Amino acid sequence: MAEKYFKYVIVGGGVAAGYAAKEFAAQGVKPGELAIVSKEAVAPYERPALSKAYLFPESEPCIHSMFSSAVIVNFYLLPRYSQGTYIRINFTAPARLPGFHVCVGSGGERQLPQWYTEKGIELILGTEIVKADLASKTLTTATGATFKYDTLVIATGSSVIKLTDFGVQGADAKNIFYLREIDDADKLIDAFKTKKNGKAVIVGGGYIGLELGAVLKMNNFHVTMVYPEPWCMPRLFTSGIAAFYEGYYANKRIDIIKGTVAVGFDSDANGEVKTVKLKDGRVLDADIVVVGVGGRPLTTLFKGQVEEDKGGIKTDSFFKTSLPSVYAVGDVATFPMKLYNEMRRVEHVDHARKSAEQAVKAIMAAGKTVEEYDYLPYFYSRSFDLAWQFYGDNVGDSVLFGDNNPTSPKRKFGSYWIKDGKVVGAFLEGGTPDENKAIAKVARLQPSVESVDQLTKEGLTFACKI
Ligand SMILES: Cc1cc2nc3c(=O)[nH]c(=O)nc-3n(C[C@H](O)[C@H](O)[C@H](O)COP(=O)(O)OP(=O)(O)OC[C@H]3O[C@@H](n4cnc5c(N)ncnc54)[C@H](O)[C@@H]3O)c2cc1C
Repeated sequence: MAEKYFKYVIVGGGVAAGYAAKEFAAQGVKPGELAIVSKEAVAPYERPALSKAYLFPESEPCIHSMFSSAVIVNFYLLPRYSQGTYIRINFTAPARLPGFHVCVGSGGERQLPQWYTEKGIELILGTEIVKADLASKTLTTATGATFKYDTLVIATGSSVIKLTDFGVQGADAKNIFYLREIDDADKLIDAFKTKKNGKAVIVGGGYIGLELGAVLKMNNFHVTMVYPEPWCMPRLFTSGIAAFYEGYYANKRIDIIKGTVAVGFDSDANGEVKTVKLKDGRVLDADIVVVGVGGRPLTTLFKGQVEEDKGGIKTDSFFKTSLPSVYAVGDVATFPMKLYNEMRRVEHVDHARKSAEQAVKAIMAAGKTVEEYDYLPYFYSRSFDLAWQFYGDNVGDSVLFGDNNPTSPKRKFGSYWIKDGKVVGAFLEGGTPDENKAIAKVARLQPSVESVDQLTKEGLTFACKI
């Protein structure tokens, strides 16, 4: 079997791999020195698009904010009669590759496959690494080929948690979907066509559940969301924040069933899912089920070979693992979060990009000093015409400010989290770029607050004057 050697190998071809390649190129990696080995058949792309613009309906108009500059957005002047004049409707076409290859999500150059060729970076696609022997610096593929390296960057991301993992009855039925990679999204798009105008049940009330609920509705499905918690996104949202999104979704005629879980599925003679059985005894008809109940970092290949912490691969501030020639970035890394003086693992795209850049800077430092990673947590999500951003830590007491009436045309609201008299986290729905920058600054600087009432009253003004 063929054996190839590269000075640097990145295993995994997702967000972190793409941004690592960008930084390797910026640092002057030489042709032939770097390879990316990826299970996926396409060059690294901005994964968040998969649950948003990638699943937009093909032809239906939607008044929707843009995913990013990568998304092909067409503005049409439509003959819609409104108050005696023609109005302009924003048509957002579904995102398709090559439109959203990295690094467009952060405003960078779109790295098409030829970009890698031009830089002399070998992009080895559709190739799964099934064995990693870190002692001999050897990776083995599913077909038995091997790669040797001097320095390895682990960027394997996460895999979805499946209901079959817990032996949920009937969970292997057809048309029960999960979403992690582009192939999963393509299967979902096929089902949109075969089950047109059908019934969709979403299992899970996290960001995948909320984003999928929106795109399924936009695709004209009757949508029911089911989750066990008292409100959606409970790991981040307070009940006040969640009440807005649940109200907004209800106004879009999405049914929400809380406080129970899916315990089984029935299928028809073709093996296609027909009903979802809930723990509380209810039975829901379903043509499509989408499950979004979380992920786990893909670290199994490296078990026992590098130190682990909090479910991920333990790294230092430069994303170096317990082995000096092995780095871990993105979802798999548990790293020192300087701001909170704590080891953390973060499953968000912003960190995947920044950790990759940091690791490559350290790898290529050649004696130069690289600053410690000083990450400010940043998460975002978009659905329908909503967009929120969150910065910092959601610990301590929280206050809600602004207009969080889901039917209000001027809706804009947010929350601050206060710990030990300081604002440590900030959330904003519907913010302008400047307002989002302001809440990021607050979360970074952690200003003291004299009174929580004052903070509630001042709302966004508090952030804007920092
Ligand atoms: C549908 C979806 C929507 C999201 N939306 C948001 C969002 O709105 N905001 C946000 O902040 N975050 C979002 N995220 C999370 C964000 O995309 C991830 O945190 C980010 O992609 C992590 O980057 P990564 O490179 O570590 O992993 P990934 O981007 O997942 O890349 C991992 C890559 O490694 C490959 N791989 C794994 N094992 C092997 C192997 N053994 N051999 C070869 N290749 C392998 C995989 O096939 C994949 O290509 C979303 C995630 C998903 C799935």
